[in-house]
Amino acid sequence: MERSYVIKPELGKNYPVISHGKGIYLYDKEGKRYIDGSSGAVTASIGHAVDEVVEAMYAQGKEVSFAYRSHFSSDAVEQLGAKLAEWAPGSLNWTFFVSSGSEATETAQKIAIQYWQEKGKSTKNRIISRWMSYHGITMGALSMSGHVLRRKRFVPLLEDYPAITGPYPYRKPEGMSLEEYGLQCANELETAILRVGPDQVAAFIAEPVIGATAGAVVPPDGYFQRIREICDKYDVLFIADEVMTGVGRTGKAFGVDHWGVVPDMITLGKGMSAGYTPMAATIVSEEIIETITKGTGLIMAGHTYSANPQSAAVSLAVLNYVEKHHLIQKSAEQGAYLLQRLQELAEELPLIGDARGLGMLCGLEFVKNKQTKEPFELSKNVSGKVIAKAFEKGLLVYPAVGGIEGVAGDCVILAPPLTITKEEIDELISILKAAIESVQQELQEQALI
Ligand code: PMP
Repeated sequence: MERSYVIKPELGKNYPVISHGKGIYLYDKEGKRYIDGSSGAVTASIGHAVDEVVEAMYAQGKEVSFAYRSHFSSDAVEQLGAKLAEWAPGSLNWTFFVSSGSEATETAQKIAIQYWQEKGKSTKNRIISRWMSYHGITMGALSMSGHVLRRKRFVPLLEDYPAITGPYPYRKPEGMSLEEYGLQCANELETAILRVGPDQVAAFIAEPVIGATAGAVVPPDGYFQRIREICDKYDVLFIADEVMTGVGRTGKAFGVDHWGVVPDMITLGKGMSAGYTPMAATIVSEEIIETITKGTGLIMAGHTYSANPQSAAVSLAVLNYVEKHHLIQKSAEQGAYLLQRLQELAEELPLIGDARGLGMLCGLEFVKNKQTKEPFELSKNVSGKVIAKAFEKGLLVYPAVGGIEGVAGDCVILAPPLTITKEEIDELISILKAAIESVQQELQEQALI
């Protein structure tokens, strides 16, 4: 190729050029085939080049692609809003549309702060989050994120929000039951609220299953129920960041549905439009919207592309496709099979310390020593090596490295499209196994394990 003028993730690196995709497969222009083992960034959850979605895109485009939300609503956006109200738990009936997960969480942050202002409690403006969390790359979203690697350069510009420990069953203290451990982690929220002062805290934000920082870490049962209790006790809103876990990814419509917990806001992105167009959302409770309606009557957030008909039509087609093909149920069933195969790999290969997940969101954690669970130094980039090797062999895997040295090893996420079949999972596993074995050998040669 001639000189490139595109700023890519790794400057100076040559990336293969994509040609096309179908189902769980992607093909580059050289004709090489890749299994999309992570749906890109846990995004392409209904697979590639689905006719119904492309047809909906074309049909909407022929009518109108863009009409500004301050001028018009549209059938597409109204139907999508109604569909989300149907899917979402409790009284989470109102949706604010944006174009990325970061915008969705930052909108939730702003709505939480505004909600308390409307109620005359303007000192309630801090958001508590967790170490080992990712809520987005923009400054507000990054302020709420415990992703050390991504925060590092910008710390002086970030809000100094308090953060608590997220439950991490693989590394729980010896001798403590899972249930006790979950409650201990949840109770850290109460301590944090009391330290800061309940009159200063607007909301708590958490991912139902930890994604980008630690690779599909599932909390103990009881954790989110206790979080909900604490939030209610101190008048703190609970924001469930479901950008990665939402829309069936974990085998339920939303991650929090596994524990029957109803948040005050849910953020969505990624699987909401399955990569067919940028689309994300902040779903908000009746109580919050009523309060703001009675007060200022205006949500102080929004973007040019918010609620555009084109993206709404695409997202609606994706949700309809998920319903029509029972993909939430498939995610639960095939996800259980994927996890079983990953756990078999973990038994076999010394490099894998833990295989975990929920539905079609699974993770592997690589460790130096399986017995002691000693993590690798992050500079060894073990997960990066596995990802590169898998890529070479035609399998896409997503990194999950939060950057807290010595606390967690490198992790990867396996999250193929929810449409994947058992045979395709077997194919994915055999490539993954070969990739990990090859990295294992390399590390042995360098006397690193
Ligand atoms: N929240 C969560 C839970 C995420 O996983 C991500 C993306 N990895 C984001 C927010 C940010 O989404 P986006 O990259 O679309 O801004």
